[in-house]
Amino acid sequence: MGVFATTDDLETTGHEQVVFCQDKQTGLKAIIGIYSTALGPALGGTRFYPYASEEAALADVLDLSRGMAYKNALAGLDLGGGKAVIWGDPEQVKSEALLRAYGRFVQSLGGRYYTACDVGTYVPDMDVIARETRYVTGRSVEHGGAGDSSVLTAWGVFQGMRAAVELTWGVPTLNGRRVGVAGLGKVGRHLLGHLLDDGAEVVAADVNPRALEWARATHPQVTLVEDAAALVATDIDVYAPCALGGSLNDDTVAALRAKVVAGSANNQLAHPGVEKLLADRGILYAPDYVVNAGGVIQVADEIEGFDFERAKLRATRIYDTTREILRLAEADGVPPGVAADRLAERRMAEIGRLRTIHLR
Ligand code: NAD
Repeated sequence: MGVFATTDDLETTGHEQVVFCQDKQTGLKAIIGIYSTALGPALGGTRFYPYASEEAALADVLDLSRGMAYKNALAGLDLGGGKAVIWGDPEQVKSEALLRAYGRFVQSLGGRYYTACDVGTYVPDMDVIARETRYVTGRSVEHGGAGDSSVLTAWGVFQGMRAAVELTWGVPTLNGRRVGVAGLGKVGRHLLGHLLDDGAEVVAADVNPRALEWARATHPQVTLVEDAAALVATDIDVYAPCALGGSLNDDTVAALRAKVVAGSANNQLAHPGVEKLLADRGILYAPDYVVNAGGVIQVADEIEGFDFERAKLRATRIYDTTREILRLAEADGVPPGVAADRLAERRMAEIGRLRTIHLR
């Protein structure tokens, strides 16, 4: 599959625009994917990654940009979905010139696409890109940016978890529940704090001994297990995957003792059939892209001029959105992921259609 063959694929994926950007001097090879601008400019981060091939880079950007459209729609943002990938090893090729060359391509889209951080790109990189384009967010606090997005990601996960717990046990609180947190990284640590404040008993896992040391030192009441595989088999009420994607597979679902799954990791289901496995076992799954939208809400707020309290209020609404999705899923007899997609598509269609009302 090359650039031209892709045209056929775009017909099936429905993307609006895919832009290939090259700057030979700096070695920049980037692809910007815009899935939809029905709700506003497309927002999504830039992934800097040494893909095995152009095809792999393209497949990823198509997939990720579509995901952002759905995430931004359900987060209630006036933003469409896009994403970009820079093909290469950031350790080897990332430079000021390369990032600024990339920034010029982002600028050339005239605001159809806003970029932000993703795997392999960090807040200081956004400050460099911003020297060439105004269509960048997730900048440093010194530059009026939102800073670390894991703060509101964790807050949003907590809100989504409350909604799922309410549907399962009748009350929107984690008080007295046993919650298993897999991954004590940036998000997991903030989430741990919210859970303990709410009166939950927490069992946590991380493969990094430093993360476990941090938990021992700061929250001695937390029970620690060595990895996520051990955690799923533990007697817990709620499972919060906050490490890598794909952690819910045929084996982990079969072993899982929790009744609710709500966590920050992207793409938690190893394959689409896992959602049915969860439903068959009576486990309520709060869709990952719904509950982990706090981070994008945080960086999107920066476009208006960052205000933490306003952004936090928006992330708090993840509780309402999750509740609506889970109820819709129940009423329609479909898995929560399907209900979430339907709601996102409905908002994109209903609000997107308004642009057909002509304004002078
Ligand atoms: P992070 O890298 O800071 O933390 C991940 C943690 O998971 C690390 O401490 C790592 O040691 C641990 N881990 C890895 N494999 C594990 C395993 N098998 N068992 C247990 N622990 C394991 O990442 P983060 O920013 O906290 O993000 C966590 C997840 O949430 C990622 O999937 C990320 O894509 C997603 N997410 C993050 C944000 C954000 O704002 N940071 C927003 C949306 C989604």
